[in-house]
Order: sequence, then C-alpha cells, then structure tokens
Amino acid sequence: NVRCLTERVLVIGLGLIGGSLASALRTRGICRTVIGYDRDKDELETGLRLGIVDEAAADLLAAAAQADVIVLAVPVKAIETVLAEILPVLRTDTILTDVGSVKGNVVRSATRLFGCVPNRFIPGHPIAGSEKSGVAAADATLFEHHKVIITPLPQSDSDAVTLIARMWQAVGAQVLQMDVERHDEVLAATSHLPHLLAFSLVDTLAQEQDCNDIFRYAAGGFRDFTRVAASDPTMWHDIGLANKQAILQKIDEFTAGVGRLRKAIETEDSVAMLGIFTRAKAAREHFS
Ligand code: NAD
Repeated sequence: NVRCLTERVLVIGLGLIGGSLASALRTRGICRTVIGYDRDKDELETGLRLGIVDEAAADLLAAAAQADVIVLAVPVKAIETVLAEILPVLRTDTILTDVGSVKGNVVRSATRLFGCVPNRFIPGHPIAGSEKSGVAAADATLFEHHKVIITPLPQSDSDAVTLIARMWQAVGAQVLQMDVERHDEVLAATSHLPHLLAFSLVDTLAQEQDCNDIFRYAAGGFRDFTRVAASDPTMWHDIGLANKQAILQKIDEFTAGVGRLRKAIETEDSVAMLGIFTRAKAAREHFS
C-alpha cells in the first residue's frame, strides 16, 4: 500500500501509455484524484467508463490550472502543441513530465516555448508498451518490472525529480537517470532501429507478388521479429523525425553490418559468417 504522493494528477493524452499510468495511479492510490484529458472525446469517455480516471476534464485549461502534477502522454509531435496550450495557465508549483519516446525534441520544444526547460519539467520515458494503442488497451500493470528513464537537466528542481521518480516506482517501475542525448542514442539503437527494420521488412515482403504465400507460411521467427510492425504508423512517423540524427546513424551502422553479412554469403566466407553469428548469439544470450 503506497502512500499518497500528491493531490491532483492530470494525464493529457489518455491512450495506451497515459491510460495505463492513470489506471495504475488510481488503483494503487498514489494520488488523491486522477484527471484525464484527451482531444478525442470518445477515448476520454471510455477512460471514465472503464474507471481508468476519477474525472474526465472537459476543459483542458481549467484542469491544467488545478493540477499538482501534469503528465503529457500525447504523441511526440503533439507535446509542443499541448505545452503551448497549457503554458498560460501553468502554476509555478505544478510539476510537469512527459512519456515521449524521444527526449531531445521535448527539451527543444520546452526551450522554444519557455526560453529554457522549466525547473519543474522533468522529461521521462517508460520503457514499456506494446504495438497496441488507445485507452481500451490500457493496463494498470504495464510498468511493473519495467524501466523508466528520466532525463533531468542541470537546473531541474530536486524535489520535482524525486516526486516523478517516486511516482514511477509506485507503479512498479525501476527508475534510471540519463542525460537527454544519451537517452536518444541508446533508444535509437534498442527501440527505434528494430521497429523501423520490422516495418521495412514487412513492407518489402508485402510488395512481392506472392506475398500471401510468404505470410501464410511464416513461422514463429517471422512473427517474433515483426510483431512491432503492427505498431501505430503516426507514432513511428513522429519518432522517426524527432530522433532523426541518431536513427540515421544507427541505420548506417546496420546497413554496413548487413553489407558485411551479404559479402560473406556471396563469397562463401564461412569464417566471417560464423564469426557474425557466434558473436551475435553470445551477445544475445548475455543480455537476455
Ligand atoms: P496512443 O495513440 O495510445 O495515445 C495517445 C493519445 O493522445 C490519443 O488518445 C490521442 O487522442 C491523444 N492526443 C493526441 N494529440 C493530442 C492533443 N493535441 N491533445 C490531447 N490529446 C491528444 O499513444 P501511446 O502509445 O499511448 O503513446 C503516447 C506517448 O507515449 C507517445 O509520446 C509515445 O512516444 C510514448 N510511448 C509509447 C510507447 C508504446 O509502446 N506505445 C512506449 C513508451 C512511450
């Protein structure tokens, strides 16, 4: 039974991640009241009906003015729009955070709007989710035993950092701190590149004439590798552009690696082939 950390938490963007966090906060009694806001009224209505939030905010600005903590759980590109909307009513003691998959662009957005990142805005990113989206897929246990990376800045208020860290710990997550640039580099490699490869592989195969046959005979390996290609296209469009430089770098490194493998197969270079597979197998077993 976790002690109540704060009074009113407003979750803006009541989709998979926002809905899951709202639901976890509510079921675990981590704050007094969880308020949801979404520009899609159906999502908001569903969230209220499913008991994911205590209240559905009809008016974003009124809700933002009353919130002690605001969580921005909208798509990466919408974060700046929402920040700009709530800026005029934001109290100086309100703690802000977000759940966006890219952090550099959030910091740049906040800097554009506020002149610098406010000391009570603590960017964050839960390393948990799924290929589903929308509030109906929300799950109060989604963050349990998962990592959440927060990326405080030098000027960040230490009480605000502590509160955001404790909020995530209270929903079962393990909180890590990283700097913004490092976060975007690491996530480009571990999340963004694999998602983009899955989209690209499925798209390439789907254009082949006999693709129905190919997909019909696909086995477990194909399903495991391509599950994330069913993720939301708009979300991945936003991430692709928001973390452009780091992603381009990882695509180039990957392309070079595939090139080496291609050459090894073409020249029947077993030493090179077995070298790649053996190193990869050892690394995969070490990290799993
Ligand atoms: P989602 O599509 O399920 O939910 C997003 C919600 O935001 C939708 O209900 C949408 O109506 C709402 N929204 C969009 N623009 C808005 C605006 N201007 N004002 C108010 N509401 C608005 O998406 P999600 O998967 O929950 O992703 C939300 C955020 O979480 C994204 O920034 C994403 O990068 C991040 N994230 C996602 C995952 C994942 O696996 N899905 C994991 C970690 C982080």
